[in-house]
Amino acid sequence: MAYRDILEKIRLAFPQPVSHPIHDSYFVHSIMRALDQVDALKTQLPMLGNVVPGDFERAKEARLPDGISSVEDVTTELVNYLQGMTIFGHPRTQQNVIPPPTIPSLIGVLLASLYNPNIAWDEYSRLVALAEVEVVAMTSKLIGFDPEESSGVFTFGGTATTLYGVKLGLEKACPETIGKGVPGNAVVFVSDAGHYCATNVVGWLGIGTNNLITIPTTVENEIDLVQLEQQARRVLENGNRIAAIIATLGTTDSFGLDDLQSIAALRDTLIKEFKLDYKPHIHADAVIGWAWSVFNDYDVEKNPLGFRPRTIRALAGACRRIRHLSTADSVGIDFHKTGFAPYISSLVLVKNQADLELVTRHPEQMPYLYHFGDHRPGMFTLETSRSGTGVLAALANFRLFGEQGLRVIIGHIVEMTQLLREHLEGHEGTTVLNRDNFGTVTLFRTYPIGVDTFLIKRQEFEDANYRGSLLSHNEYNRKIFEYVHSEAMEGRGVVISTTDCYRRTEYGEPIVALKSFILSPFVDEVDVETVVSKVLEARGKVS
Ligand SMILES: *Cc1c(COP(=O)(O)O)cnc(C)c1O
Repeated sequence: MAYRDILEKIRLAFPQPVSHPIHDSYFVHSIMRALDQVDALKTQLPMLGNVVPGDFERAKEARLPDGISSVEDVTTELVNYLQGMTIFGHPRTQQNVIPPPTIPSLIGVLLASLYNPNIAWDEYSRLVALAEVEVVAMTSKLIGFDPEESSGVFTFGGTATTLYGVKLGLEKACPETIGKGVPGNAVVFVSDAGHYCATNVVGWLGIGTNNLITIPTTVENEIDLVQLEQQARRVLENGNRIAAIIATLGTTDSFGLDDLQSIAALRDTLIKEFKLDYKPHIHADAVIGWAWSVFNDYDVEKNPLGFRPRTIRALAGACRRIRHLSTADSVGIDFHKTGFAPYISSLVLVKNQADLELVTRHPEQMPYLYHFGDHRPGMFTLETSRSGTGVLAALANFRLFGEQGLRVIIGHIVEMTQLLREHLEGHEGTTVLNRDNFGTVTLFRTYPIGVDTFLIKRQEFEDANYRGSLLSHNEYNRKIFEYVHSEAMEGRGVVISTTDCYRRTEYGEPIVALKSFILSPFVDEVDVETVVSKVLEARGKVS
């Protein structure tokens, strides 16, 4: 076939650049066909079709096909790759911090993909660049930054939000690092419950993982302020410089909330005492916790939305810390976690937009870009091209939910979590490990019939004589998990997850726990009851 004939077919596989009603509806129809095929994979189970184990060896043999294919065939092939995917929005999925995306956020992604705006520059993205500024302003206001002073950009994940925060701090503590490279005396602090992305960030920035100082956490999974102070003093006395203190507001596994106010007060004391010529940067990793900001000014006494008292207590407990997010110099936010947007939709906010000048390049370094236009975040972002998908997804959800909708959705998942804990505490065979925690993760353990669950939790945590008991119960909980999991895969029960190390005991052993992470708005009372009854059932089957 002459190339012209093939080109004709290829052209049909693009949306038409010029209005063409028949082809335009062919495009819409193609998307609908894909969605229809996905819907056909849905059953009552919390996954699409069946879980098919991936043959990764065979995958390496994949090669580029010789000839062209059709929109229809490619669609069917792509849909196959969704086989076995967990349905994160399913009421019987309580697995991890992965939300189901809303319809408007999906449309946001589709629209931004369709015309391919590049938000590095308004010249290439027009009003989609404006949408980013709007989301930055809305989020700034929400967490307590002054939108006139603050700024921010969407970036490649929560990890990158921490990367930006630490990089800005590094430039403050060690000026001209961008030009001269990283000196050996920069350190970064994070708690041991903080996300491992801190390790990546210091490694990739050249600060070095040896210069990441990990501070232990309290039983509430908050950074231990006494130890932070001791370590910070030691570091400064030795002539090192603090590039950043990463505060985590909403740790991944346990929703620990660091006390930002006290961290900021400590920072200010150290500046005076050590006469520092820079202000150590505080970055708040709030990629999970930011959404709780919608309750900052909720009237908990009148409780107009009618949450249960336990829920109100948990919301107020979270806000006690979240309310102070604006004491941080930069904040990381993931809409693809507690914002119900698809990946990637992450925003880093900076309190003072002037901070971004620390990483702004000179126009001579980018001869082919940014000659005109009004808005050029590409002058300082790490990325060159940035997609508009995350921006439109986030904006879609802000517009869809408003403050009220976010309150309802976050309030509901907290309410379901509290119910789960109530149920778990109502049985002698199960014990909640993080009962005073305010988030939507519940870590719990179960013990064989006959074990006194009132005593055992403390004994195994504190007393090294119980090491053997702890380890065998670790094993026991793993088996319980396997039973509950295989039942859920058969459509009986709920998909939960497990963690190999909820915390370490005082004598250093890991505590294995069962984990329920509620993030689906579809989870309801019956689903949390099912978790408990399945675990109790497992006790009869596992030894
Ligand atoms: C998920 C998570 C991250 C990493 O975010 P990504 O968007 O996955 O890159 C960082 N910090 C915390 C606390 C997280 O839960």
